[in-house]
Order: sequence, then structure tokens, then C-alpha cells
Amino acid sequence: MTLPSQSAGDDTPAVPIQTAADYIESLRGRSLRVFLFGQLVEEPVDHPVIRPSINAMAETYELARQQPALATAHSPFTGQPVNRFLHIATSAEELVMQNKMQRRLGQRTGTCFQRCVGMDALNSLYSTTYDMDQQLGTDYHARLVAFITMAQRANLVIGGAMTDVKGDRSKAPHQQADPDLFVHVVKRTDDGVFVSGAKAHQTGCINSHWMIIMPTMRLGPEDRDYAVIGAVPVDAEGITYIYGRQSCDMRALHGESLDAGNAQFAGQEAMVILENVFIPWRYLFMDGEFEFAAPLVERFTCYHRRSYVCKSGVGDVLIGAAATIADYNGVPKVSHIRDKLVEMTHLNETIYGTGIAASYQGYPTQSGVYQPDDMLANVCKHHVTKLPYEIGRLAQDLAGGLMVTLPSEKDLDNPEAGPLLRKYLKGRPEIDTVDRMRILRLIENMTLGRNAVGYLTESMHGAGSPQAQRILIGRQMEADFRKDLAKRLAGVEVDGEAGGRPPEGGYMSRVFAPVDRKEDG
Ligand code: SF4
Ligand code: FE
Repeated sequence: MTLPSQSAGDDTPAVPIQTAADYIESLRGRSLRVFLFGQLVEEPVDHPVIRPSINAMAETYELARQQPALATAHSPFTGQPVNRFLHIATSAEELVMQNKMQRRLGQRTGTCFQRCVGMDALNSLYSTTYDMDQQLGTDYHARLVAFITMAQRANLVIGGAMTDVKGDRSKAPHQQADPDLFVHVVKRTDDGVFVSGAKAHQTGCINSHWMIIMPTMRLGPEDRDYAVIGAVPVDAEGITYIYGRQSCDMRALHGESLDAGNAQFAGQEAMVILENVFIPWRYLFMDGEFEFAAPLVERFTCYHRRSYVCKSGVGDVLIGAAATIADYNGVPKVSHIRDKLVEMTHLNETIYGTGIAASYQGYPTQSGVYQPDDMLANVCKHHVTKLPYEIGRLAQDLAGGLMVTLPSEKDLDNPEAGPLLRKYLKGRPEIDTVDRMRILRLIENMTLGRNAVGYLTESMHGAGSPQAQRILIGRQMEADFRKDLAKRLAGVEVDGEAGGRPPEGGYMSRVFAPVDRKEDG
């Protein structure tokens, strides 16, 4: 499938970001209003609590440089290779490559590297804006393509902001006591719109260059002002960020790199508050078309739920840490230990297998972008809400109680306590005691500390909590078709031929479709 080429918008910076160092430099000197621990942050790049999350995002640039086949793709818009996180996927293979890149980055960082939200937003918006233009005669798609082209040329990080704070969950946006509990248009001018509201737990927002604001749920005619999608620079006037603190984050503040467990990398979530933030027309991709909010949310969550194969990469690190601690303890070959490592691997590959299956079973939309399989994407994410907890439990089992009773790095540095710890925390004689402590701290970091935010609770709630996936799985389970299969074999009479065939356009029909379905359009 080919996409039409498009010239860049006039916002393209002269020099694109190429390296991780370029990226980190690009974040400096912006006038972001960020609160953390009750204080305004002067320069997020230099803040010890924030920096590990910037390092994790920077790995997306580093990987593209080191392994371009994995982390770049050819853009029809620029005619050049671009970072895969900015690419519109035009085949099932490209969807799969997104997943492979995500697993690799999970392995390299051991945390959430934050850039997938923007990738999934751009891909889902690509088909949604196309459909809007086809049905309504709007020109949102061309605006979006110009924006994507600009972002690709400059190699920017695009964040996606979907989750509203939602207020009273039993009420629609327009019914809330406070209209700002969902992001909405507060004013229109000849030049564009102004929006107000707040987005909760926004991944990597402070580490992005632009943020795409999107509705979070199905909207009705009375929610028209809430049906708004637009791109804003993250340092636009009127935006306040309040940083989400993470378990054990103070360890980064005190510079205790051993105690941090993973001193280099961490995830990032913040609350984003928008007060009369201006979006010019050319960066608006929906303004009032409430009936397209639900399709956008469903498409976005479909991409994003299979993006959670990232956790299989993080799981690889945790399995490696568990195997290493068994090794350091001198018990790598004990059968029950080996069996636990096998079980962790089996669970981890279950996440990966369902995620890439959703991508392999992806199909083309009218716009040309490929959409992953919705059933399998939801099955992948539903596994992710459970299996990392079991993998984490097994890692803690193999680590032993020392991972939570271990004295601090400062005790290790103490001239009296340090030698005692080095002597009495020894595992196998040839293994450095400090290395053993480092691995235990990493397991703590991933199952209880900073990166348990990404590996466990984000796995539970990110891209939708478990019940959201069960609704989507239930909607597509085609129970009548399955009942007929059973009835036929049991000798129960079934109506005509129909029961023997999968319903048109449903999940089963995708199961039996040819693998490469480019001609489906
Ligand atoms: Fe990407 Fe995973 Fe982080 Fe979501 S949780 S942004 S899919 S790394
Ligand atoms: Fe997420």
C-alpha cells in the first residue's frame, strides 16, 4: 500500500534531531511550567528525578542510529528514512516491526520508554481523519499529513494525551458539575480554538516536543465542544504539568545509584492542565465531529494495547535478573529454580506472541494505514494486566527476602559496616558482593520500586484497565457461531448453512482470511 507524498509544513526546524545527545539538548531551555515535590522545576533535563525518564526516551533515538532496520522506516511523505515512532504503518509487517522495536527498547531500558503513545496516536488518527474527510468533506487528513511530515523532518517526539480526569464517572462530559473535567473548546476565533481541561497520567509528556490532545471516550451531540483533537507544542502558553511521583523516587534525588536499582532509566507520568490553550486551525484534526470520537478511541486503543509487548522486553530483563541471582547464589541448576525461569519465560512469550499476532493479523484501512487485529490486541493487553505480576512474583521468589531487607549503599560505604556487609552478604566466593546487591536492587526496582510503576501498575491500567479489554473481547467473541460448532458435533439441529460460517466482518472471518490482505482495501 502506498501513501501520497506531501510537502512539509512551515514549522520544520532547520536541523533535525539525530542523536540521543541532540534530543536531550532539544529539551533544554524551554519555558515548561512543571511542578515536582511542590516546587517549580527550573530545568527538567537536569532534575535527578526526571532525567532517567529522558534517558529512556533518548534510547529511541539511539536505537534508530544503531539498528536502522529495526527502528526506522521509509517515509512516503519525506522520501527519507524516519524514526519508526513517527512512521505510518502501511503493511502488517510494519506493524510487527513496531512490536519488535518496542521489545528491544524494553530490554535496553527496563522501563517505559514513552514514545509509543504518539506513534499509536498518529496511526489511528491517520485513518480516522481520512474517514472524516470522506464522509464530511473536511480537510483534517491533509492537515494531519502536513503535521506528520513536519514531525518526521525534524525527528520530534510526539506525545498523545487521551485520558481525561473524568470527574463523576456516571456522567457524560457535558453533564459534569465542572465543565473542565473533560478537555473542551472554550472559545473560537478566526485563527483557531482555545481549550481547557486536564489529562491524567500522561506518559512522557514533559519529554515530548508536541502533544496531540484527543477525546477519551464515546461522545454524544451535547458533547460537541468536547470533540476536539489538536496538536500543541508542550511548552505552549497555558499548560501546567504536575509530575507524578513514583515509589522510591527519592533514591534518585539522593544520588544513590546502587540503591536506585536502575539508576539510568525510568518512566514518566504527569498530570497536564490546560488553561485556555490556543490551537490554530492547521493543527486541529477534529472540531465538533463527536461521532468520530468513539472510532478514534477504539482504533487508538487497538494499536496501543498490542504496543504493550514493550513489557515482554522489560520481562526479559527481569528474567535475566532472576537467573543471575540464582547463579550468584550458586543454585542455577536446581530443578525448581530452572522451572521457575521456564515459567517466567513462558508467560513473557505469551505477551509477545499475542501482541505480534495482532500485528501479523493487521489489515488495511481505506486510508492505507494498517490496523492491528482488535481481538488479539485486547487479548495481548489483558495478559499484560496479569502476567507481569506473576513474573514479578517468581522473580521475588528467586531473589529471596534479601531484596527487601538489604542495607543501604551508605552502609556499604561506611568504614565499619561496609566490610561486615561485604563479608556476610557474600554468595558464591568468586562473585563480588556488590554485584549481588546490584541485581537484588534491580529486582526490587522492577517489582516494588520506580520501574514497578511501568512494569506492574501501568501494565494493569495503561491503554485501559482490564475490564475495558474484557468488554472488547466479549463484543467480538461470536458466541452464536461457537455454539453452532458445538451443536453440530453434538448432533443438535442447527439452522441451515449460516451457523457453519463465521459472521461476515467479525473476528473469525479475520482468522480465516488470507494472511496478506492488501486487496481488501
Ligand atoms: Fe510504550 Fe509500553 Fe510505555 Fe506504553 S507502556 S508508552 S507501550 S513503552
Ligand atoms: Fe502507556
